[in-house]
Amino acid sequence: MTMRHVRRGLAAVMLFAAAGSGPAFAASCQTMSFERWLDGVRQEAAAQGLSPSTLAALNGLAFDPAVVRRDHGQGVFQQSFLQFSDRMAAAYRIQQGGAMLKRHADLFARIEKQYGVPGAVLASFWGLESDFGSNNGKYPILRAVATLAYDCRRPQFFRTQLIDALRIIERGDLRASEMIGDWAGELGPLQFTPSDYYKYAVDFDGDGRRDLIRSVPDLLASGANFLAGLGWKRGEPWLQEVRVSESVPWEQADLSIKHPRAQWARWGVTYADGRPLPADNLSAALLLPMGRYGPAFLAYSNFQAYLGWNASLVYSTTAAYLATRIAGAPPMRRGSPNIAVLSAVQILDMQRLLVQRGFSSAAPDGKFGLTTRAGVRAAQVKLGLPADSYPTAELIERLRTLR
Ligand code: CA
Repeated sequence: MTMRHVRRGLAAVMLFAAAGSGPAFAASCQTMSFERWLDGVRQEAAAQGLSPSTLAALNGLAFDPAVVRRDHGQGVFQQSFLQFSDRMAAAYRIQQGGAMLKRHADLFARIEKQYGVPGAVLASFWGLESDFGSNNGKYPILRAVATLAYDCRRPQFFRTQLIDALRIIERGDLRASEMIGDWAGELGPLQFTPSDYYKYAVDFDGDGRRDLIRSVPDLLASGANFLAGLGWKRGEPWLQEVRVSESVPWEQADLSIKHPRAQWARWGVTYADGRPLPADNLSAALLLPMGRYGPAFLAYSNFQAYLGWNASLVYSTTAAYLATRIAGAPPMRRGSPNIAVLSAVQILDMQRLLVQRGFSSAAPDGKFGLTTRAGVRAAQVKLGLPADSYPTAELIERLRTLR
């Protein structure tokens, strides 16, 4: 499974919803046949100026219940940052990422000059999404995206993806037969959705086509263009490991709270090796993905671009950390070996309590993401607990008895 599923998986899946519940649920809200529905897509696309030869790509397309089953069955992605990063920021990826930086040094330099995005950042996504193009997926994505657009879960999102996939054909970037990717509709070594492809792809090898499947210059420059579009700032760091002390006011450790590095230094935050932080005005948030006893990072403004690439905090932190490793940073300090990780069921239980006690208004979904962290922090502050946004069984018990 490639990684950008995770983002969509986090967007709307209900806990355990429909997982393995058979074909009966497929497209149960649709009253018209797939063929008639596809006629409607044809008309809409034609009205938007797509040519008959492009629309021919839709001929013979069949609904695939297996895609819907996989989509509904994604269930809950519930790994801690350390579990996920141990697996994904593996030694071989760090080493291969470094080898890619050397092999394509001139290309990465040209891309950084134009877009301001360092090579290690791009190499990290390249490794995470597809192991540098060795795992792009084998599924015809027009069929995947049409199936998911016909299905009832996110029809508008995927209908837009389908029409943008047709626009990619119309523009001459890819032929329909070349649009082989992932079963969720993502294309190429960086696993671009059709809409991101249409919006951000660039032709960097100058052959007149934006080919994010086979052209390494095109796909890497497009990744940089995407990150620039998500707000990447040239010359600024994205993530740096730090060491925290007990004098840090834990409730300040939140992605939405930024302070100058000088302020973090006054609170006793240092570089991971103990060297002092620069006492400057560069703004950063203190990110404690597993609470105050776990790894600690300063997340800079550029970290927001990671969350734009993939809304999962665990994915984003892992991708940003892997980039620092490819750029030469040493392995992170893992903190206490005994950090407990709540199960999806415990998270769901806690989310219900957070809503009942007025700390959150988000619908409980069993996922420990940014919204849940904010609710945890509010509850910790109210209960007088160290407010590091990381939930524990103790917090659940305190919430249960809170009146
Ligand atoms: Ca090209």
